[in-house]
Amino acid sequence: MTSGYARLGRSIVLLAGLGWGLNGCGEQVPREVVDTTLPNVAAAEIPTTLAGGPHATGCLVVTHGGVGSPPEWSADCQKAAESALVAAERHRSALRGALVGTAFMENYPQFNAGTGANIRLDGKTIQMDASVMTSDGNFAAVAVIERVRNPVLVAQAVLDTPHRLLAGEGATLFAHRIGFVDIVPTCPEAEAKFQRRLANLVAGRAGEGFENFDWRKCWNYPGPIPSTAEIDAAAGLPETGDTVGTVTRAADGTYAATLSTGGTSITLNGRVGDVPIYGCGCYAGPAGAVACTGFGEEIIRRTLARKVYTYLEQGLSARAAVTRGCLDFGEEHSLGLIAVGRDGWGVAANRPMAYGMAAPATAD
Ligand code: ASP
Repeated sequence: MTSGYARLGRSIVLLAGLGWGLNGCGEQVPREVVDTTLPNVAAAEIPTTLAGGPHATGCLVVTHGGVGSPPEWSADCQKAAESALVAAERHRSALRGALVGTAFMENYPQFNAGTGANIRLDGKTIQMDASVMTSDGNFAAVAVIERVRNPVLVAQAVLDTPHRLLAGEGATLFAHRIGFVDIVPTCPEAEAKFQRRLANLVAGRAGEGFENFDWRKCWNYPGPIPSTAEIDAAAGLPETGDTVGTVTRAADGTYAATLSTGGTSITLNGRVGDVPIYGCGCYAGPAGAVACTGFGEEIIRRTLARKVYTYLEQGLSARAAVTRGCLDFGEEHSLGLIAVGRDGWGVAANRPMAYGMAAPATAD
């Protein structure tokens, strides 16, 4: 999540003149589409990433690779969306599709979820959050879970318990007890991201929310603060890539949303973001499904997924709902939104964001 991208995206939009603008994915965006769906939005106020359109019948899937993810990762988000579509159609299940889409991306090292999940500041801890919601109002989640490859599948398993949210060691032991392999989900890419993050922190390029925060004073990991020598050895390169998410509509008009994350770049031990909090990271109901990515603390403050869902309930198209959600949020904190509704699909983000979309060729 780098503001450099955002500034680049915004300046391209502003420079591009009145008729068309380039969004963060390098696409031509017709301003009149935004004007038609949101009459009160000035032409220049187009989210950095914007996509969507009509698909009124049949299965429909949208995936995201986290706000800040480079648009070239869209190829893998697209593969995830296509796998999700096959699953949703084959099993006639929006939930099945949403699980496959997110689990697919959890297995790819570049994303900050599952295999690629962020390593926390001590260089060892990996704590992940994941959630699922279906349009009949069922919600389940895991928070700060460790030692599983696919947290989103554990969140699904929580649906079959009397509980809605399992956290920490209890969530991890639950997963192992019901058959998930006890494995530390990491890879060389996650290690490289950790080294860059640490270097950025020490160089004063702290992550969102940590800019003026004395992290040394609040150090709450079991081990010691990494030595300056270790930190100096790291390359201070920008970080990209975050949470992954999927929203689906099944052919029968039911919906599901799933999310999975290794958390924001820089956090204290035990931090929980928006992903497993009801109404915040994802939401689904009879009018559609919404999934967020971005600065979790601000997403929680705004109960954002539920709020964007109300725009769908009020009759906005999925594209207009995410656009309004993104514009309401502003640019200070990173945000990406995906949605499917009765009319079609939408993607909006205030930074570049990789995404995928899949629908059967026969859908309108
Ligand atoms: N929303 C996630 C969190 O705060 C991170 C992200 O989507 O970038 O944990």
